[in-house]
Amino acid sequence: MSFAASIITLFPELFPGPLGASVLGRGLNDGLWSLSTTQLRDFAEDRHRTVDDTPSGGGAGMVLKPDILAKAIDATAREGDPRPRILMSPRGKPLTQARARELALGPGAVIVCGRFEGIDQRVIDGRGLEEISIGDYVLAGGEVAAMVLLEAVVRLIPGVLGKAESHADESFENGLLEYPQYTRPQSFEGVDIPPILTSGDHGKIAKWRHEQSLVLTRARRPDLMTTKSS
Ligand code: SAH
Repeated sequence: MSFAASIITLFPELFPGPLGASVLGRGLNDGLWSLSTTQLRDFAEDRHRTVDDTPSGGGAGMVLKPDILAKAIDATAREGDPRPRILMSPRGKPLTQARARELALGPGAVIVCGRFEGIDQRVIDGRGLEEISIGDYVLAGGEVAAMVLLEAVVRLIPGVLGKAESHADESFENGLLEYPQYTRPQSFEGVDIPPILTSGDHGKIAKWRHEQSLVLTRARRPDLMTTKSS
């Protein structure tokens, strides 16, 4: 069983978008993962295909209607569907590499993309939606956030990235930021590659990289150090 992503959105034409390029696109073509979209508006019941209404209690903007969204979710994730149901939301738990890795090992995800002011709380509770945020800022809709989530997840699906592009050393994988990378030419604008990297001494190289990771993480993301040291 490969990873199956289903997106509920008012803008299905945005997908696969960047997810169709490069290694992720190849993985999609090769069936290592799949992507389907559900047009939320198809579940509207009136002549105008209305999906939103004014916020109860007043205030600006519109809110996605719970009855329409619930029908779209139920049609996309039928009973017994084991996939987690996710709502992209600035109020959600921040996306982490650890959650991306868990999702990549699972059967897939059903992802709801919000629009306008957001969605009715009763459908979040009633359908057990896991709210995930991609950062402390507000987007106009959940589509780009869903792509960010899927891009982080799909590249971790076994077989999507070749061995040459492995991720063991990457930022966050060991609780640290990645060490600086270099490639030829040996001298660029008068700056040489650090000699240790061309010394051929793999033990020393590993030690240097680890030290660099520690220095960078301490300087830029001390919050990561408190959860994991060394
Ligand atoms: N009024 C809401 C924001 C709505 S933004 C609030 O203040 O919390 C419209 C939609 O964009 C949201 O429903 C969500 O699906 C998406 N979105 C916006 N910012 C996001 C973020 N940081 N992470 C994930 N999704 C986001």
